Amino acid sequence: MNKIHTIETARCFLCQSVCYTAMHGICQPCSADLAPNNGSLCRCGLPFHSIINDSERPLCGRCLHRPPAFSALHAPYRYQYPLNTLLPAYKYRRRLDVERALFDLLPATAPGHFDAAVPIPLHWRRHWWRGFNQAHRLAHAAGARWDMPVLSCLRRQRPTRTQQGMSAKARAKNISHAFSCVRPVHGLRLLLIDDVVTTGATVSEASQCLLAAGAQSVEVWALARTLLD
Ligand SMILES: [Zn+2]
Ligand SMILES: [Zn+2]
Repeated sequence: MNKIHTIETARCFLCQSVCYTAMHGICQPCSADLAPNNGSLCRCGLPFHSIINDSERPLCGRCLHRPPAFSALHAPYRYQYPLNTLLPAYKYRRRLDVERALFDLLPATAPGHFDAAVPIPLHWRRHWWRGFNQAHRLAHAAGARWDMPVLSCLRRQRPTRTQQGMSAKARAKNISHAFSCVRPVHGLRLLLIDDVVTTGATVSEASQCLLAAGAQSVEVWALARTLLD
């Protein structure tokens, strides 16, 4: 009886096939669908359409127009299937069983040398409603794996409207001056952590806040990057 129960519960979250490894929430063939975000990337984490040979790391058109406040963005995957199924299931349907599969996607090593990992906060009201902050949990998982302290120094000064479906310009306006820094960060090299970066407006605003508070540098790490048209 016990054995049958174990097999029944160890099903892939995506395709429902039995996971014999039972270590992950998704099976091996579904893991192979993950799209790595590699190639020639801009500072904002978006791929260039042509091959770039310049070692100076040029900026894409959007960044030339509005340079991001952070100095680099690291996102190992593209926000498309299966992450666009897994992350909403985790965030909006509180599928904590998916969490382990997502945390397994954290690279073994940090993307550089940092003094602390800083999660993007939710406004307390949304945090209370959702019951947890996915960026906070991701930052703690990353901090444990990369041997890096977690510094929850950012606060949302005001609630912001959910940004789904908003244009880049509307997102930038919606998030403007949304954060405050409530702990000393002077001289620190910080790594901002979020689950997914869409236009970059949120992480850029948070970076600006940390730099204004005296941080030496801010880079961003997210599990996934949305490709823009
Ligand atoms: Zn599967
Ligand atoms: Zn760019």
